[in-house]
Amino acid sequence: MTSPSASLEDIAAHLDGLLHTRDIPDYPGAMNGVQVEHAGPVTRCAVAVDASLRTIDAAIVEGATLLIVHHGLFWGGAQPLRGRAFERIRRLITSDIAVYASHLPLDLHPEVGNNALLARELGLAPSAGFAHFQGVAIGVTGNADLPTAELVARCAAVASREGGHLVAAGHATEGRRTRRWALCSGAGASSDTLREAAAAGVDTLIVGEGPHHTAVEAADAGLVIIYAGHYVTETLGIRSLAEHLEASFEISARFELFITIDGPRLVREGSVDFAFTDGQPESAERRDWQTYLTRKLGGLFQEEIIFDGLTPPAGGPGDKLKRFRVGHLESNNEWISIGYRLFASAQAAEAAVIAP
Ligand SMILES: [Zn+2]
Repeated sequence: MTSPSASLEDIAAHLDGLLHTRDIPDYPGAMNGVQVEHAGPVTRCAVAVDASLRTIDAAIVEGATLLIVHHGLFWGGAQPLRGRAFERIRRLITSDIAVYASHLPLDLHPEVGNNALLARELGLAPSAGFAHFQGVAIGVTGNADLPTAELVARCAAVASREGGHLVAAGHATEGRRTRRWALCSGAGASSDTLREAAAAGVDTLIVGEGPHHTAVEAADAGLVIIYAGHYVTETLGIRSLAEHLEASFEISARFELFITIDGPRLVREGSVDFAFTDGQPESAERRDWQTYLTRKLGGLFQEEIIFDGLTPPAGGPGDKLKRFRVGHLESNNEWISIGYRLFASAQAAEAAVIAP
């Protein structure tokens, strides 16, 4: 279970479990997992494909204290912390921002991974793995029956939506149909993947990028390679990770308002209700969350809330209530219904403040 204390340790353990970080091989520079610690806690997460000065600055502007990236800080291997390398670390530490990286584990994940999500986005149904790295399939492949030009157009649409454009599309001649496709995000075109594509009978290969010789080899082999852009093919995974951390839920409680000479007094009717609203499937983890939050929120939305005058006492329940975003406020029959809407990650961070 992800404990709602929102420590970096908890979030990292949750992500490591989801992504099977320890079990998936990767290039040495990938350094999957926590790359930079911080004093904490995690109050807000930002996600980006790359850990660059630009994305670090954006995380600072967003007030994030955790930056989750696909390409981490250490691709260049061991190097002196000088120049840009120093500046990245300096800005992270000065702003107390931790960094968590997930490279191949995020590429190949069947639900939140770049390849599975991009295939779905393109209307393609994977039936097997593709692009093996140390025995593990990073990409996906499957059968289809559609004009190659149509697939090119779909790739172009995704690319332009993500702020890029197709680099090249091989030779998608008129009337050509794609019957077996393969997809490998990022630098997916190489001599190895071309060999694998030929062996699997792939006629259309979708990648982020690749060296020039792959285009030459593909043309000779009658293979169409769609180079959709490295960045473009790797935005979906990191975005879905952010959504995963933001499982939304609603809490609601009904209070009766009494105006007394000491100020307003709210009396709760019944229990505090809690419901996930993101439509994600039930799981043991989510049930743990629900039990935990129902208990904590029951303590927060006490049965009786007495205000001192009209100003909620600092540090008291009324003050804590201000930490929640009111999603719905209604009064009828002398009852006030207040619906609160918040996100798991934000709530988790706030819970660190309110938990006894
Ligand atoms: Zn990449």
